[in-house]
Amino acid sequence: MTENNIVLLEDALHKLKIVYDNEMIDKFIEYKKMVLEWNEKINLTAIVDEKEFIIKHFIDSIMCASFPDLNKLDKVIDVGTGAGFPGIPLSIIFPDKEFLLVDSLNKRVNFLSEVIENIGLNNVKALHGRAEDLGQNKLYREQFDLCVSRAVAKLNVLSEYCLPFVKIGGYFAAYKSKHIKDEIDESRKAIRILGGEIAEHHEEYVDSYFSDHQIIYIKKNAATPLQFPRKAGNPTKSPL
Ligand code: SAM
Repeated sequence: MTENNIVLLEDALHKLKIVYDNEMIDKFIEYKKMVLEWNEKINLTAIVDEKEFIIKHFIDSIMCASFPDLNKLDKVIDVGTGAGFPGIPLSIIFPDKEFLLVDSLNKRVNFLSEVIENIGLNNVKALHGRAEDLGQNKLYREQFDLCVSRAVAKLNVLSEYCLPFVKIGGYFAAYKSKHIKDEIDESRKAIRILGGEIAEHHEEYVDSYFSDHQIIYIKKNAATPLQFPRKAGNPTKSPL
């Protein structure tokens, strides 16, 4: 990574008040290298320009560090993590939290297992599976303080994937683009049915690095009814 791009990342870490050391920066560097190497064999990302990669993958992923309640949220699941976003960058900056990264595509999960081993992320596990199946498994259902997810589905569908994993009192943080007022309005009913409530419409971001993004925080206030998530495929076929 060039010196300028390292400075860009460090600048974002400063602004987000994240205490970091050289070891963390080295993990980011090694992870980016692995994504780009594996990207030649399996499809992981369309972003290969280094500066764009830092901004759209790394800095975007760590945005939720500014959420005031984050220090209380220790167990985190990333649903539809793909090449590990936002889960891996978050796991690098929060070594004391525990992360489970879930994806329905086994090739990506194999890649993540290599990353975890190679860069020594002792606080992370990768799991192959669909959110609809894992959300009905008692090992995972309502076991997490925080569920994060980026670029996986519309908010009503995504809420059915994600809210079942969250403990009552915990949060689901949906990484979304800005200007999705209609999508949010169309999701309110689904969020309510699933036991959630939009907590904070968080439009704060680090300068203009990713001005087109926001995180929607949904607080889980009540248990998710047992019929949700429905069978694999049904949330997309007939969204709540
Ligand atoms: N979150 C990553 C990011 O922002 O770069 C990846 C986004 S990618 C567009 C969507 C990912 O979600 C894919 O890797 C796909 O395999 C996964 N996915 C889609 N539906 C899923 C489901 N029902 N359960 C688990 N993973 C799912």
